[in-house]
Amino acid sequence: MDLALLEETLRGRGEPAFRAKQVWEWTVRGAAGYDAMTNLPRALREELASAVPFSTLTVEAERESRDGTVKTLFRTADGHPVEAVLMRYRDGRRSLCLSSQSGCPLTCTFCATGAMAFGRNLTASEILDQALHFRRLVRVDHAVFMGMGEPMLNLDEVLAAARRLPAVGITHRRTTISTVGWLPGLRQFVAEVAEPIRLALSLHAPDDELRSRIMPVNERYPIADVIAECRRHAETTRRRVFVEYVMLAGVNDAPEQGRALAQLLGRDHFKINLIPYNPWAASDGGTAAVARPNTPPTAAGGLYEGSSRDRIAAFRHELERARVPVTVRLTRGRDIEAACGQLAAAPRVVGRGSRRSRAGAATPAT
Ligand code: SAH
Repeated sequence: MDLALLEETLRGRGEPAFRAKQVWEWTVRGAAGYDAMTNLPRALREELASAVPFSTLTVEAERESRDGTVKTLFRTADGHPVEAVLMRYRDGRRSLCLSSQSGCPLTCTFCATGAMAFGRNLTASEILDQALHFRRLVRVDHAVFMGMGEPMLNLDEVLAAARRLPAVGITHRRTTISTVGWLPGLRQFVAEVAEPIRLALSLHAPDDELRSRIMPVNERYPIADVIAECRRHAETTRRRVFVEYVMLAGVNDAPEQGRALAQLLGRDHFKINLIPYNPWAASDGGTAAVARPNTPPTAAGGLYEGSSRDRIAAFRHELERARVPVTVRLTRGRDIEAACGQLAAAPRVVGRGSRRSRAGAATPAT
């Protein structure tokens, strides 16, 4: 819901100031629409329904994984695709993976989002509406900004959305913003954010030569500068920065690279999250990944193969030996391309013209 438009509309009608708060309270508790807001006069509810769309996003497709993960493809009012994911864990945790942009202007070589066309930054309302959509299905308690896009390229809107998440049920301590290490945004985050929002860094390589090869952004903002900023953040907040490290067979998963990573990060300021690589295929609409979830794709997107379990275990062992905290991320939703790095808004859409797909609002994964 566009909250600025809501307030403007209410003001224009001469409504008392508490009306906006009433609407917001119903919305964050999962109301299905204005109609459910029974403490608002009926005429007002009807008027709002036509003047202020209940969501800034429309749902275009929704898929549920065998493991209970739900992936939703939304469209913005101006036609950009946005995906977000709800993950349900056995311990009861319900975690949202939110997008900050439609597509992503960066071109990390292992990420499907980087291969689709970049659309634009999302507004705070568009980010929040992803969360509110899932709130209407279930209670939610965690959020990660690990969907499409680079949050530090759109930090003001991301923070405006994150600051409203507690009302939806997601505290700041349970909110994580992930970045490739885009320094201007990262510096702003470190300087400005007083709330205990968690920071995560997508590192993926222990040295500049390799990192630049797989993440071109590293040419611009090299490892030492990015790590220094993260370390400063960990020191001042006394909260560890999460480091994401996707395990690519024969690329970044050798035991000596594990030792180099331990040396780079040290014991005190970081916690490493090893991510099993999720395959995606650029040329077949992802159907290969659906049919054979454990088979690395051979098509254009399939530059990489994921590291084997043994290889991940050996890498992890190197970090543990050096006493660097490390976990291996549980993969969720791979069968519906909802897992890390698989969000590419493959437009399995009936009734939409192919014109839009070809215009590049959608993806190579068509
Ligand atoms: N742009 C931000 C937010 C996206 S987070 C960032 O990169 O941090 C998405 C996470 O999934 C990142 O750590 C990304 O590197 C990782 N990822 C990308 N492609 C992946 C893949 N194919 N398999 C597993 N993880 C992947």
